[in-house]
Amino acid sequence: MDFDVVVIGAGLVGASFALALQTAGLRIAVIDTLVPSTSVARDDWDSRIYAISPGSEEFLQACGAWQLLDTARLCAVEDMHVIGDDEISALNFGAYAAGMRELAVTVESRELQSALWQALMEAQHVKVIAPAACHELVLEAAAVQLSLADGRSLRARLIVGADGADSWVRTQAGLKVDTRPYAQTAVVANFATAQAHRGVATQWFQRKGVLALLPLPGERASMVWSTATAHAQELLALSPNELAMRVVTASHGKLGDLRVITPAAAFPLRMQRVQRLVMPRLALVGDAAHNVHPLAGQGVNLGFRDARELARVLTARGAQNDCGDFALLRRYERARKEDIATMQLTTDTLQRLFDTDNAPLAKLRNFGLRLVNRQSALKNLLVRQAVG
Ligand SMILES: Cc1cc2nc3c(=O)[nH]c(=O)nc-3n(C[C@H](O)[C@H](O)[C@H](O)COP(=O)(O)OP(=O)(O)OC[C@H]3O[C@@H](n4cnc5c(N)ncnc54)[C@H](O)[C@@H]3O)c2cc1C
Repeated sequence: MDFDVVVIGAGLVGASFALALQTAGLRIAVIDTLVPSTSVARDDWDSRIYAISPGSEEFLQACGAWQLLDTARLCAVEDMHVIGDDEISALNFGAYAAGMRELAVTVESRELQSALWQALMEAQHVKVIAPAACHELVLEAAAVQLSLADGRSLRARLIVGADGADSWVRTQAGLKVDTRPYAQTAVVANFATAQAHRGVATQWFQRKGVLALLPLPGERASMVWSTATAHAQELLALSPNELAMRVVTASHGKLGDLRVITPAAAFPLRMQRVQRLVMPRLALVGDAAHNVHPLAGQGVNLGFRDARELARVLTARGAQNDCGDFALLRRYERARKEDIATMQLTTDTLQRLFDTDNAPLAKLRNFGLRLVNRQSALKNLLVRQAVG
């Protein structure tokens, strides 16, 4: 049980990171508490849908996972409409105007996770240890010692925490995290729609939160309604028909009548800033390293960019043999700092701007939407940043 890299967490980010190390010449182990699942039910839809950016899609292709997806369950997002709470102000982004094929592709979480598990199981350079629970982590100068609850122990030069927002690795290492709950909960559900979405994702910024309807294959849409927790609880208590009617009203009937096809589920929302992404022999990626509001649909894309960058730094380490070397890991941290800080600032500012009853601010935010909408160069810049 001697490895170069041990990755804790085989979620979307941890699994893709391990796969991306295929040419790094390293011995890798991936540990998860869950039982690996390489097959998914296809008679219903997962309530958790991600909008995957073209940059993330390219990365997942290189990892050997994207090509394992069933294309009939993917849907291209060609346009995005953001509507202000005065119902007049709008900001529209189009793939065509930005010279792209699509802005994003929607995919079910479980579909992508199972493709990643499948690729991991077939990868020659990775040993999967799952299900397994971690017991103790000891960081030494020359190595990391990890013991599992079943008595097994592992030794590695580098440990990577990809174990989500409540990261065990981060806690064991004593890395500081600044957590701010948003007092909001995201309610997600899928609907059959009476009218075609035409590849358009729409977001309504409202005083009660942000409602997003993302396109799914056929006449279906996925909802993420980030709203005050009391309102979320009210929505969750409704019957499927009542919920559908509420969403029709809140979305101004844009997709016509709706019918719930996947029951509503809830995710409490919080902002998390982690001061350091690395320390000697340890690095964090994905939600273990940052947690952002889902209003920009960028959380997992941000995590894929961490995975891509850390894998790139380790693969290009050259004469540096020790993959847990602090100077090497600092290169990763420096490269990721700006992207993470920009996404945290953007999502947090937008959330605050729309989570207020202050009348001048309400005017300003709607004016801001209209202003940005008229600046095609700025819009293209925003699109380029979101699709990376
Ligand atoms: C409502 C909602 C909608 C969202 N929509 C989008 C979107 O459209 N686009 C987007 O980019 N992002 C979106 N996000 C964000 C996205 O869900 C997360 O950023 C993403 O899931 C993080 O992936 P991860 O692999 O870092 O962590 P996780 O998905 O949390 O995976 C962590 C893995 O680690 C394992 N694990 C945990 N602890 C241990 C341990 N101690 N030992 C071993 N294994 C462990 C877990 O079993 C799991 O497999 C959304 C988030 C929410 C709440």
